[in-house]
Amino acid sequence: MTPNPSLPRRDFLRLSAFAAGAAVASAGSASAAEPAPEGPFRLEPLPYAFDALEPAIDAKTMEIHHGKHHAGYISKLNPEWAKMPVREVMSLEGVLAGLRAGGDDTLRNNGGGHWNHAFFWKSMAPVGKGGQPSEALGQALQSAFSSVDAFKEAFAKAAATRFGSGWAWLILQDGKLKVTSTPNQDNPLMKGLVEDVGTPLLGLDVWEHAYYLHYQNRRADYIGAWWSVVDWNQVSKRYQDAKA
Ligand code: MN
Repeated sequence: MTPNPSLPRRDFLRLSAFAAGAAVASAGSASAAEPAPEGPFRLEPLPYAFDALEPAIDAKTMEIHHGKHHAGYISKLNPEWAKMPVREVMSLEGVLAGLRAGGDDTLRNNGGGHWNHAFFWKSMAPVGKGGQPSEALGQALQSAFSSVDAFKEAFAKAAATRFGSGWAWLILQDGKLKVTSTPNQDNPLMKGLVEDVGTPLLGLDVWEHAYYLHYQNRRADYIGAWWSVVDWNQVSKRYQDAKA
């Protein structure tokens, strides 16, 4: 690809960065929703009530986390997306995969922030509604970590030891399950930015905004309680889709 003199340099750099990962699709995870006036991404309602995850996560935390934090990422993502020259053929996932170090962090932080939170809400279900890992996922967890409990320990450790703000992840990487973590709003789709690339199956937000109202500094207590609201049915489906 040679520079097009009619494109501003910034746009050319963006196009180059996206070329590797630009999947052809409409506006990613927001494609099913009516576009907001200012851009294609909008805040979807939670798939359950604000208080549905209590006592693991309190209603006030959910309300602020969804209505203020997640909404904030979307409102900063939309104007950035509007500047992109070929946005019609790009998915958010493709754009995140194409980001490179040294670029503009607006897309990295807010594109990642939107994707991560949309994924997080769908990773949880009210206590008793999330089911158990499917037989296939259970076997894969056992094979990779020796037991489901050992997986939970490894995941909890990744979440607890992530310094500052970030996420813990279970990913499928080259056909194998792996636990990893990322800083800020990075995620394992960001091929050009993170060490462990793979398909996210489960993610846990360990930013203080995710737990501080109820747990204050006790991140480990939040992580421990969170297992009760993991939607294993959803995680199992993601595993099945990623293996296919
Ligand atoms: Mn968050």
